[in-house]
Amino acid sequence: MAQSDYAVDQLISAKTIAARIEDLAREIETAFAGTEKLVVVGLLRGSFVFIADLVREIDLPVEVDFLEASSYGNAMESSREVRILKDLRGEIAGRDVLVVEDIVDTGHTLYHVVNLLRSKGPARLKTIALLDKPTRREVDIRADWIGFEIPDEFVVGYGIDYAQRNRNLPYIGKVRMLAAAGAGA
Ligand code: 5GP
Ligand code: MG
Ligand code: MG
Repeated sequence: MAQSDYAVDQLISAKTIAARIEDLAREIETAFAGTEKLVVVGLLRGSFVFIADLVREIDLPVEVDFLEASSYGNAMESSREVRILKDLRGEIAGRDVLVVEDIVDTGHTLYHVVNLLRSKGPARLKTIALLDKPTRREVDIRADWIGFEIPDEFVVGYGIDYAQRNRNLPYIGKVRMLAAAGAGA
């Protein structure tokens, strides 16, 4: 597929994202005030830009860890299987934990990850997602903090990919497919 098969239209600017992250960081500092250490767990790969900007705004003692989960949709079932491809390196038992996700879509990924991490006995566990698509939800879960609610559009940028491209865009954009060129004519 050539790069010109689609265009990306900006949905949320870099400036708007940065301003929202400042507000979210203040709320997180309040919620975890007095913590000995906050383990900030980024869900790979889509959250890597968000977690980088977020932790630099959080004025608390922070440890950064990553988890990679993969969800496999099955067209025949409403339930989905979520597999852990890369587990945490550190321990979270008795620790304060903040899970950082890029997008909550059907909710299966966050639901599974939260259950998995809860089973390890953290002191406090909270979740933040940069983007939320509430109309797509299949599982009853909501992140404790949400950057932006968006409609059911396929988005890229700010860490989020389309076939591994566009993660490096500084803003969130929505993918607009272009009419297939050279397909006949
Ligand atoms: P779910 O909540 O359905 O388990 O899955 C959430 C994951 O699906 C997100 O973390 C993200 O990786 C992927 N996803 C959902 N919506 C989009 C989107 O608009 N663009 C991209 N690139 N990935 C998405
Ligand atoms: Mg994700
Ligand atoms: Mg992806």
